[in-house]
Amino acid sequence: MFDKILIANRGEIALRVIRAAREMGIKTVAVHSTADSDAMHVRMADESVCIGPPPSPQSYLSMPAIISACEITGAQAIHPGYGFLSENAEFVQIVEDHGITFIGPTAEHIRIMGDKITAKDTMKQLGVPCVPGSDGGVPDLATAKKIGEDFGYPVIIKATAGGGGRGMKVAMNADEMESAFMTARAEGKAAFGNDEVYIEKYLTTPRHIEIQVFGDGKGKAVHLGERDCSLQRRHQKVFEEAPGPCITPEERAKIGKVCADAVAKINYIGAGTIEFLYENGEFYFIEMNTRLQVEHPVTEGIFGVDLVREQILVAAGEDMSFGQDDLEINGHAIEVRINAEKLPNFSPCPGKITAYHAPGGLGVRMDSALYDGYSIPPYYDSLIGKLIVQGRDRAEALARLERALGELIVDGIDTTVPLFHDLLQEPDIHSGTYNIHWLERWLAENMPD
Ligand code: ADP
Repeated sequence: MFDKILIANRGEIALRVIRAAREMGIKTVAVHSTADSDAMHVRMADESVCIGPPPSPQSYLSMPAIISACEITGAQAIHPGYGFLSENAEFVQIVEDHGITFIGPTAEHIRIMGDKITAKDTMKQLGVPCVPGSDGGVPDLATAKKIGEDFGYPVIIKATAGGGGRGMKVAMNADEMESAFMTARAEGKAAFGNDEVYIEKYLTTPRHIEIQVFGDGKGKAVHLGERDCSLQRRHQKVFEEAPGPCITPEERAKIGKVCADAVAKINYIGAGTIEFLYENGEFYFIEMNTRLQVEHPVTEGIFGVDLVREQILVAAGEDMSFGQDDLEINGHAIEVRINAEKLPNFSPCPGKITAYHAPGGLGVRMDSALYDGYSIPPYYDSLIGKLIVQGRDRAEALARLERALGELIVDGIDTTVPLFHDLLQEPDIHSGTYNIHWLERWLAENMPD
């Protein structure tokens, strides 16, 4: 096992990794920009190294700075968290070339899944059901129009290098194809340096269901059921839960096995998430994330396992601590993402926290790097905390969420907490009847910006 690991991240996810490492008796190294000298992850780690100025490209995304921090401190492995360098195959290669272990999948697996066309091809071959669409890239507008006619509108045009909801455009009919095709290409080029796009049938009322998988890198893999992340704003998740309110045990077992078998076949190592759209009882693969997800705690809650601990174990060459038969769902867990944003237009709202009080009690987990007097810097993601609650069933989890949100105090800045208070008044939230468009529609009616 490692003696010391470095965490190439900040905020709540850096704390999450430090906590798992400490329980395993592993020392931790935090890295930080000059804007984060007073950040909680720096205070909580055993050691810290300043790796550059505030902008991420010069600090949290600086590969030489992070490798140097490892060499200076003698850290034997790097945990990338999510975001930043977590899905950067080149970084993984460089880390390994320096004799340091990357706590995550191989560069090759990241590369395959990072290109959406290759990912879809690979998944299809591994027996995973996919959204009907173009076979690979679509070279020009004429081909795109032909595909639109063949599959029937609406269709979605997606940049193969896309991510974070960027590089996707819907064409409702043939007239909209030209502008959607050109925009998706331009966005792909501008944001990811790659203008290749592909086309999929646009599903009109799907839910977002994702399967958590975990592999040991030696051909063994398990699934940890699904998360329903259908409540989204601009393709970004805001509320996630496990198990999915509409998934039956039979459906879970079936799609879970398909996913676990698929990643076992490619000797996948570590945590991964296979994302699907789910409509009329069918699953359609959209992408695989080769890292720990923001919403992993709801899965940890219902299965009682520490996914970061398992990531570290398999990265060190050890076996996972559980097998498929050890996994049993216990209750229902919900996570809400709390952002430093001002409603109704969700504009970033960094600033000084004048008072902070985290909720507690049975079934409540608050993953946050906030503290009294902390100043949220303006340079990074606006996620400032995740409130995760668990109950014996969904109704108990929802009641607990309302209670815990009432206890939470974050003064000095605006946050998205009022959104969740309002959502909890909605009958659809309580009945679990919503698809990926529900929140956008609700926002348009209730919080016009
Ligand atoms: P990203 O990598 O940018 O997150 P995804 O491919 O995972 O992109 O898609 C993100 C979201 O976009 C999905 O959760 C869903 O809301 C919507 N979406 C993607 N593909 C389709 C589709 N074929 N039909 C309908 N909605 C889609």
